[in-house]
Amino acid sequence: MESKVSKIGVLTSGGDAPGMNAAIRAVVRTGIYYGLDVFGIMRGYTGMIENDIFRMESKSVANIIQRGGTILKTARCKEFFEPEGRKKAYENLKRLGINGLVVIGGDGSFRGAQKFSTEFDIPCIGLPGTIDKDMAGTDFTIGFDTAVNTAISAIDKIRDTADAHDRLFIIEVMGRDSGYIALHSGIGTGAENILIPEYKTNIEEVVERLQEKEKRKKLVNLLVVAEGDEFGGANEVAKAIKARMPNADIKVCILGHIQRGGAPSSIDRLIASRLGYAAVECLIKGDKVNTMIGVVNNHLHYTPLNEAVKETQTIDPEWLKIVKILAS
Ligand code: ADP
Repeated sequence: MESKVSKIGVLTSGGDAPGMNAAIRAVVRTGIYYGLDVFGIMRGYTGMIENDIFRMESKSVANIIQRGGTILKTARCKEFFEPEGRKKAYENLKRLGINGLVVIGGDGSFRGAQKFSTEFDIPCIGLPGTIDKDMAGTDFTIGFDTAVNTAISAIDKIRDTADAHDRLFIIEVMGRDSGYIALHSGIGTGAENILIPEYKTNIEEVVERLQEKEKRKKLVNLLVVAEGDEFGGANEVAKAIKARMPNADIKVCILGHIQRGGAPSSIDRLIASRLGYAAVECLIKGDKVNTMIGVVNNHLHYTPLNEAVKETQTIDPEWLKIVKILAS
């Protein structure tokens, strides 16, 4: 079969996520296997605009599958929002003969890729790389599983100290627009409740449940709050509860950026490797380009970039019921 591409570029863009390196490795090694030239583009779209692009060999990606972060670095690039910025980027790729692009990032990065692929004759493939899992068209995103595992191991430790002191801990996890990390880590650690941006929280009900537990002498409780919940994070939730339960012993813990780092989990390495391979196959065949490749029901799933940027994954409200029943 004749390949539709001969030289491809790969970049990581937007928020970093563990497993991005595994995806880069898969793109580079698959490309080389099929006889393509593969170029690494530094700092997302910034490197495209500034011509910070270099030829990658098989050994360029040695010893990175187990590393968090991204060897290509990532950035947010204002210039790429403007047509002139994208044109500059195109000219740099064209000069190098790059005729296919793999973008590993979140929905913002795909918005950029979608515009770029519409304006110019360089097909793009998006691979979902975000710890938030807030993208439709895939059951997993690269980095989500690792972030949840990191949150779970941190919350387990918090539970030990909460138990020693009979305390209520309010733990903030990442997720400005998405409650998935809160949901999965909350279920996984037996949290009393989760507060997430997707649903309004009845704080009176939260307090009633805590008071009822107090009566039963169930004094160790964990609330997991996504940073983008309606109150504005764990500190604000703590204030709201303290106002209603002045005697409660409440501590707040904000997990922060540790959720982005660390060695990718087996699931993230597997998805990243599979998707990186699929991205190159797609560019070579040229039939499903300008799509985001995800995994749905363990099968590869192709979502046109213009749809991928519109939809987000919703959370079934039944999960909230499950959290409460299991913590009662
Ligand atoms: P993520 O990919 O993690 O959602 P961002 O939303 O910050 O991260 O997007 C990453 C980069 O993608 C931006 O800094 C910008 O360069 C590019 N981008 C995002 N949205 C657009 C857009 N509407 N048009 C062009 N480029 C965009």
